[in-house]
Amino acid sequence: MIYDICIIGGGPGGYSAAIRGAQLGAKVALVEKESLGGTCLNHGCVPTKNLYSASEVLRSLSEADRFGIKAGAVSFDFAEMMQKKNEVVAHLAGGLQKLFKDYKIDIFKGKGSIEESGGDVGKVRVDSPSGSSFVEAENIIIATGSEAADIPPLRIDGMKALGNRDVLSLGELPDSLIIVGGGVIGCEFANILARMGVKVSLIEALDKILPHAEREISRLIRKRFEERGIKIITGSPIVDAELKGSGVSIKLADGTELFAEKALMAIGRRLNSFGLNLEEAGIEMDGTAIKVNGKMETSSKGVYAIGDVVGKMPLAHVAAREGIVAASNAMGKEEQMDYSAVPMAIYVHPEVASVGRGEEALKAASVDYRVGRFPYLANGKAVAMREEDGFVKVLTSVVDDKVLGVHIMGAHASDLIAEAALAMKMGCTTRDISDTVHAHPTLSEALLEAWEDTEGMAIHKMGKRII
Ligand code: FAD
Repeated sequence: MIYDICIIGGGPGGYSAAIRGAQLGAKVALVEKESLGGTCLNHGCVPTKNLYSASEVLRSLSEADRFGIKAGAVSFDFAEMMQKKNEVVAHLAGGLQKLFKDYKIDIFKGKGSIEESGGDVGKVRVDSPSGSSFVEAENIIIATGSEAADIPPLRIDGMKALGNRDVLSLGELPDSLIIVGGGVIGCEFANILARMGVKVSLIEALDKILPHAEREISRLIRKRFEERGIKIITGSPIVDAELKGSGVSIKLADGTELFAEKALMAIGRRLNSFGLNLEEAGIEMDGTAIKVNGKMETSSKGVYAIGDVVGKMPLAHVAAREGIVAASNAMGKEEQMDYSAVPMAIYVHPEVASVGRGEEALKAASVDYRVGRFPYLANGKAVAMREEDGFVKVLTSVVDDKVLGVHIMGAHASDLIAEAALAMKMGCTTRDISDTVHAHPTLSEALLEAWEDTEGMAIHKMGKRII
C-alpha cells in the first residue's frame, strides 16, 4: 500500500506528526529503530523530571521543619527510585502505544533511510535484523532527533564517561561525578545528583553556567548550587582527560585537575542526520542539521524534517509543534512554524523558565524596554508554601507596551511561563494582563504584579510609588 505519510523516528516530533496526520485522515506509517517516545520519553525529559521530582521530595523532607514538621532522618534506596522512574516511563509508553493503535498508525521496527524521494511517491527503506523492507508514502517526515555529543579527549564509554542514557540507567549512585557542560542538561543532572548525595563538580568552558538564561538568573543558580556544595568551574575548557581504573581524571586549560568516580558528558547534542541517505536524496543541509523552510519542508519535494535534527531549538515541545506543522502541510493545510514565543524551562532548584528575549539581547538590538519585577517573598502563596526564593521579571516594549520577554526563577516557574507565552503570542499589552483577574492566593499573582510593576503599579511591592 501507499501511505499518505511515513515518518522516520518516533520521538515527540515524530509521534505528534503521526497522530496529527491520522487526525487529519492520513494513513500513517512510522519507522522507529528503538522505542516509541524517543529521547524525551525514554532518556530525557520524562525520566529526568521524575528524578527531579524525587529530588524535590528529598528537599521538602530536609526542610520540613519550616512547617513545624519533624521528618527525622531521611534515607532512600537508589535502585528502587530508578525502578519507580522506569515504571513512569513504561506507563507513558503504554499510553503512546494505545494512541497509535486507536489511530491505526502502523509501526515499522527498524532503521529507516530514504530510498527514493522527489517524485509523487517516496520510498523509505527499513533495515532490521530480520532483513530489509520498503515503505511507500506520498510524504516523508524525518524526525530522527539527536544523541549526546562527546569530544576528544573525553569520549563516552558508558562505564566511566557517561551520556544521558547511561546516567539514567545507573545501578548505583557514584560517590563523585564531574559534569562536563553547564547548560540545561548538565545543570539539571547536577541539581538531581547533588540532592542525592553525589559530590558533583560542574565544568563549563564559557564564562557562566546556563549561558542562555538571564545573567542574574545564571548567577543566582550558581550561588544556590555552590551553597549546596556543588563545585563549579567556568571559563576553562578541558585539555586532557584519562579514564583510570578507579575513575576519571580531567585537566582544564587553567591548570585545574579534577578526579571523580565518573564523568557525565553534557556538552550538547549530535544530530542524527547521518545514515539516512540524505545527500543521495538531494536534501540540502546546514552543517549537520537538515535545512527546512517555515513549513518544515526540505529541499526535496514531499520530504519534511522536524525536531532536534533540524537544529533550531532542541526542545520536546518545539519538536512536537514542528511535527504538527509538517503533518498539517503534508495533508494540504497551510501551516507555518512560529518560534517567536517558545517557552523553556530548567528543572533545577529554584526552577527557571523564560519566554522571549532577555535584557542583554534587547540592549544589543537597541530596543527600548521597561522592566517590571516582583519577588516571591512578597507573594502570599509563595510565602505560604515556604518557597520565597524567586522572582519574576517582565520586559515590555516602550513603543507599544507588548511583551518582549518574561523570566522567572522560583517554584513552579515551568507552569507559570505558559501564561506569559500566551500573552506574548497574542500580542497582549500590560493593560490586557493587569485587567485580567488572577486567582488568589496563587503564584500567578507574582506574574501579574511584575507586569503591573512595569508601570510602577504593583500593589504588594515595597517602595511607595505615586504617579
Ligand atoms: P528524539 O526524541 O531524539 O527521537 C528521535 C527518535 O528517532 C528516537 O526514538 C530514535 O530511536 C529514532 N531514530 C533515529 N534515527 C532513526 C532511524 N534512522 N530510523 C528509525 N528511527 C530512528 N526537552 C524539553 O522540552 N524539556 C525537557 O525537560 C527536556 N529534558 C531533557 C533531558 C535530557 C537528559 C535530554 C537528553 C533531553 C531533554 N530535552 C528536553 C530535549 C528533548 O528530549 C528533545 O528536544 C526531544 O526529544 C527531540 O525530539 P525529536 O522527536 O526531535 O527526537
